[in-house]
Amino acid sequence: MNMLVIEGGTVITMDGARRVERADVLVEDGQIAAVGSMTMPIGTPTLQAHGCLVLPGLIQAHTHVCQTLCRGAADDLHLLEWLRERVWPYEASLDERAMRACARLAAAELLLGGTTTILDMGTVHETDTLFDTLGRTGLRATAGKAMMDAGDGVPARMREETRRSLDESDALSARWDGTFAGRMHYAYAPRFVLSCTDGLLREVGARVRGSARVHTHASEQQAEIALVRKERGADNIAYFAALGIGGPRATLAHCVHATPEERRLLAREGTNVTHCPSSNLKLGSGIAPIPEMLAEGIHVALGADGAPCNNNLDAFVELRLAALLHKPRVGPAGMTALQALELATLGGARALGLEAELGSIEPGKRADLIVIDPGAPHVAPSPDPVSTVVYAAQSRDVRHVLVDGRLLVRDGQLTELSGLERGEVVATARAEAARLRAKS
Ligand SMILES: [Zn+2]
Repeated sequence: MNMLVIEGGTVITMDGARRVERADVLVEDGQIAAVGSMTMPIGTPTLQAHGCLVLPGLIQAHTHVCQTLCRGAADDLHLLEWLRERVWPYEASLDERAMRACARLAAAELLLGGTTTILDMGTVHETDTLFDTLGRTGLRATAGKAMMDAGDGVPARMREETRRSLDESDALSARWDGTFAGRMHYAYAPRFVLSCTDGLLREVGARVRGSARVHTHASEQQAEIALVRKERGADNIAYFAALGIGGPRATLAHCVHATPEERRLLAREGTNVTHCPSSNLKLGSGIAPIPEMLAEGIHVALGADGAPCNNNLDAFVELRLAALLHKPRVGPAGMTALQALELATLGGARALGLEAELGSIEPGKRADLIVIDPGAPHVAPSPDPVSTVVYAAQSRDVRHVLVDGRLLVRDGQLTELSGLERGEVVATARAEAARLRAKS
């Protein structure tokens, strides 16, 4: 049996009682076996966490790993301009080598920053490379090929026949769902209403009514909503729901401008919403009414979105922003540090349908754990662990990261198990980004 004890840390369990306690965490064969004070046989592998915080691996329920090489190349633009002039042409230029460099760069940033699981939207092509590369890094991911069979300004290489998009998505799902010891899962990813025909969305909806998962964007900006209304005669979320794209197996990024009626629908159907505060600010989209949504019983998760609209994939930045952003409107207690942390742990697990396996430190769950060292001047003193994580800690304070009990980051460095070497990953990403720019 493969055993490891994380010894002596302060454990933010995120269990039902939200217990925070000094405890050891016993990991057996990738699973959390026990949490508490324990005496282990001499020679049991141990990870010292004295003076540190131990918490569930952070989950980002909306990312675009494939956009990472486009970091810094699409700033200060409106959404539709941003997509048509920068992001779609960039995605159209991606080939296998560039996709691999994207995924390795993103995985390195995510793991070093304490993110252990993502819900990712790929691009139209190179999805096999995305799955294969992410899987090898040890990260946990639910991903899917972006589906685009309509829309203005879509590059020819990205616009697909409806049947072909569905067939390829079905084949990818069959090929990758459950691979890498169950770390990889598939979610259908129609990009957003404006890039998908009614027929394609209906077919995806039929699969979601079966057992498939779906991950898409909705109601991010007013211009997008006006176009959807004009084209389809309905608002995004209501339109999706009518086609079967809703409920607990659906995750909608943004929902910044959901109508009151749509919010009732989200709550009633148990649809997941991913809050992306940095992205919503940078693209000038607005501020999603997250405290109100939580009060209405809507399931909310957290995500960085892609590198060209953030420009980091840093869960700590999103946590802090999620806790701060709403206070001017709802008051300082209207969104607490604990609520923000819930979005990035339990909320994320639910948005991926993995709430039985992830999101808290409890026996029986997968050993996706991070250890934070609160020793730096910008963190000390740290009397309240949840406050420390949300308001003071930064990604550079992450000391150890485990996914499925495998130590992927040790003492702030990527380990051999991740297959990632920091210098090589960054150098290759720079070279590939330059090659893509020269190509287009
Ligand atoms: Zn997005």
